[in-house]
Amino acid sequence: MKTNAASSLCPLCGGTGHGAFEKNGYLHHQCDRCASLYLEPVPSPEALADFYRRSSADQNSRLCWEGGNQHAHASWCRALATAAKLAGTGPLLDVGCGAGQFLAYARTLGWAELEGLEVAPDVAATARRVSGAAVQEATLESASLVDDRYAVVSLWDVLEHLPEPAAALRRLARLVRPGGVLLLGVPHRHGITLRVFGSRSLIVMPPEHLFLPSRRGLRAATDRAGLDTVRAETTDVRLREWLDVGKRLGPRAPSAGPPSRGAAQVRADYLETYRRITAAGAFGLVQSVINVLLRATGLGDQLTVVLRRPPTATPPAAADRREASRR
Ligand SMILES: [Zn+2]
Repeated sequence: MKTNAASSLCPLCGGTGHGAFEKNGYLHHQCDRCASLYLEPVPSPEALADFYRRSSADQNSRLCWEGGNQHAHASWCRALATAAKLAGTGPLLDVGCGAGQFLAYARTLGWAELEGLEVAPDVAATARRVSGAAVQEATLESASLVDDRYAVVSLWDVLEHLPEPAAALRRLARLVRPGGVLLLGVPHRHGITLRVFGSRSLIVMPPEHLFLPSRRGLRAATDRAGLDTVRAETTDVRLREWLDVGKRLGPRAPSAGPPSRGAAQVRADYLETYRRITAAGAFGLVQSVINVLLRATGLGDQLTVVLRRPPTATPPAAADRREASRR
């Protein structure tokens, strides 16, 4: 895959890193400062676009979203309750909204002004149908959006797919109105599954996951974007990976080329099992008990942060300039 020649610093905190491991032909570095993992070099935008074209990203998106979102409801509920307290139930934008499950869930909690961004046209159509939200078929860069508009902007499992997270966070901070809230959910670099299975974990999924943030790394990136951290917590365990424990801890497979149809089938199987598990009656109770433990220990596989744009302080654009002048 063609890559960007320049840049080798941590995309989150800007620290230097060292080679940690390779998977599917992609070298992962670990940041010496914040311990986040990131691809080095970062695939070029053209290479990423080509990858998503070949791997049928819209199908991935549909699988991800239809595969089991019940587990996320508790996190979504807590995050939206905090957001409502801080910013009221004003306009809400979900970036990378998939088939609209989060938007539909927000509507059931009383959020009425709903918007979404989704690149795959048929997935965007589903999102409109299930949530009633105004969904643009666009990326964060190409979308037509108004600064200072949103009470809440959310990204669930989206930030780690973006090659320039710092620039994305600055853009997001401008979209949120002063005093408004940004909700981020990302895979957690120090979650228990990645700690135990290492590069064999399905969380290590190049070139889709371009980085896997530590709490410290994500905090550095959001601080730089001028956002205040209200809460950061880790929840959830990648159940299917633990059910497959024998396979995961077995002999290391040789590095292959880019993911093939085989990889897509593995993911489809994973999501189907996940759907069956999460649909079981006792699942919610067990998960909430586990989540109490994971929040206390910081070992959850999902890192969720609630961020706030300061109500009156320096707008993020000015913070950018200050940051630039320090360099
Ligand atoms: Zn770092």
